[in-house]
Amino acid sequence: MRKHNRVTAYIHMDAIEQNFRVMRENLRDGVRMMAVIKTDGYGHGAVPIARMLEDHDYIWGYAVAAVSEARALREAGIAKPILVLGYTFAEDYAWMAEHGVRPTIFTVEMAREFGLAAAGVSVVSADASDSPVPGVEKRQFPVHLAVDTGMSRIGIADTREGLNTALSIAETDSVFIEGVFTHFARADEKDKSAARAQAARFCAFCDQLEEAGVCGFLRHCSNSAGILELPEANMDLVRAGITIYGIYPSDEMDRETNRLCPVMELKSHVVYCKKIPAGTPVSYGGTFVSGHEMEVATIPVGYGDGYPRSLSNKGSVLIHGKRAKILGRVCMDQMMVDVTGMDVKVLDEVTLMGKDGADEITVDELGGLSGRFPYEFVCDIGKRVPRVYCDM
Ligand SMILES: *Cc1c(COP(=O)(O)O)cnc(C)c1O
Repeated sequence: MRKHNRVTAYIHMDAIEQNFRVMRENLRDGVRMMAVIKTDGYGHGAVPIARMLEDHDYIWGYAVAAVSEARALREAGIAKPILVLGYTFAEDYAWMAEHGVRPTIFTVEMAREFGLAAAGVSVVSADASDSPVPGVEKRQFPVHLAVDTGMSRIGIADTREGLNTALSIAETDSVFIEGVFTHFARADEKDKSAARAQAARFCAFCDQLEEAGVCGFLRHCSNSAGILELPEANMDLVRAGITIYGIYPSDEMDRETNRLCPVMELKSHVVYCKKIPAGTPVSYGGTFVSGHEMEVATIPVGYGDGYPRSLSNKGSVLIHGKRAKILGRVCMDQMMVDVTGMDVKVLDEVTLMGKDGADEITVDELGGLSGRFPYEFVCDIGKRVPRVYCDM
């Protein structure tokens, strides 16, 4: 491993295991988990995380947002089921069917197109070739139905008409409904009444499907917030996202009951130190001007790495366990911080996010200061920031 990078994202794999332990304490025995690793594992790296989870029995499979993400996982040898949570295009259906990648279906047309593409596939993944219906020899390919119970995003409406749509999908050639799911809009709020109402609507819809003869599908409803705080929504499967990475879905979540461990730390090194006299402007636009003589350190990190420019004159970093404030604008690749009286030298370690000594910069702090949602903050850490996996 290199000793120095401009900036490195350290990914603590033991913290991921710890976060799964915390989540599982909230699950009934037998409830399995789908690890949501879209956006390259919320910026943490989907492949290494999936590799670590492959042999965990409680992991049913993975969820991603794009077929390209599923492809990267299959190319890396990840074998468990993968669900694409959003819309997928018909031109990808043959590949998906062949590789056990489940589409999310919410119209009869999507089901037909998927069934047609799947029927023409020669090589079939193990789980797709199992016909779920005894006596039915035809190959059947798994899909998941999205039901809209309150997001108004994608999904079949939970109405009589929606039920008819679901029944038509169930009868589509080459397709079987392996899972039915819905998504919470407000499970991260203190008041869970909206989420409970969604769960109830979802259960009612699933019950009607079963009464109409569609059976044996997996119900899944909970996201991270539901896993932590809505035990009645743990059905057959839950979809764990942000909590894998040690981040709370919102600041209304109870942090005492469920103690998550942050997974990502962002570290850099000082690359230049200098003194500036009073009256010296710092960075583009001269938005900061020193009021007195100062010691200034340059850090080789900027918005090109996903470190937000909105932290200009606002954020701080940790050096020797102490806060050093950002001076002036964050540039694309560099920024300056105030290290007056801190005895800082070139190549000293800089913590942009994470712990140094007794102090810690959390993703919530950075998100709050920069006007970004914590989910967004980690997703936006750039491609050019190497991820280094530790504690495996
Ligand atoms: C992103 C996503 C999740 C995971 O949400 P978290 O809040 O990160 O747990 C679960 N289900 C669906 C449908 C999603 O789009």
